[in-house]
Amino acid sequence: MSSSLPEYEVYALRYATREGRRRDNFIGGDPHDGPMPMDYFTWAVIGPAGAYVVDTGFTAEMAAERKRTFLRCPIDSLKLLGVDARDVRDVILTHLHYDHAGNFHRFPNARFHMQEREMAYATGKYMRYPRIGHSYHVEDVVGLVRLNFKGRVEMHSGAVDLAPGLRLHPAPGHSDGLQVVQVHTRRGWVVLASDATHYYENRATNRPFTTAFHIGQMLDAFRVVEKLGSTERHIVPGHDPYVMKEYPAPTPALEGIAVHLFPGAAAD
Ligand SMILES: [Zn+2]
Repeated sequence: MSSSLPEYEVYALRYATREGRRRDNFIGGDPHDGPMPMDYFTWAVIGPAGAYVVDTGFTAEMAAERKRTFLRCPIDSLKLLGVDARDVRDVILTHLHYDHAGNFHRFPNARFHMQEREMAYATGKYMRYPRIGHSYHVEDVVGLVRLNFKGRVEMHSGAVDLAPGLRLHPAPGHSDGLQVVQVHTRRGWVVLASDATHYYENRATNRPFTTAFHIGQMLDAFRVVEKLGSTERHIVPGHDPYVMKEYPAPTPALEGIAVHLFPGAAAD
């Protein structure tokens, strides 16, 4: 049956990076503390009906404010893949944290797909606590509220097919309304796990990342992405620098900027 589904091309675009320590990236710390940098990504899913953009990254101004190393504007990088933000009809926001939901003003013709629970969370009572609210940029949240009043936000309550071979699934825990994207490709079902697993190692060792709303749900979210991917190699983490090493650049001009995601030879 799945052979009748479209086969999408999936790209990861790296737009920022920062230094980090292993103890920053696992609840409970890490006995072998050492450097463990973090990369920041957006993703593009290109199929017969055009391009879907998954997460929109942050701006240079936000990078300066949060002391991240900004490599290049993710929206400009899309253009190098032949995707003009002005033509994009559907943007998927895995969640509304500052590093996933900025730049929406660059997509004047898009609808924004999120889980209803994420908007409730981002506008809800817990935002008063800096431990939770700090991960959100209030102007992003307010901007998306404004877009909702213009009819440009699609809030989903649970799993949904956006198109044949392209599905959204809730995988909360890191935030209350996090969703992941399951994509049919030539090599099976790929899961853009976003922050359901920041690094390969979070899921592989059952140790969630330190930014947490509900630790039990974060552990369950690892199981969700494991069910959705054809193999564990099909699960693409949200912030792991290894992604840039594991997959090839689509063209020489995109070296270090974007990679073409598909399961490696080990999955064949
Ligand atoms: Zn993130």
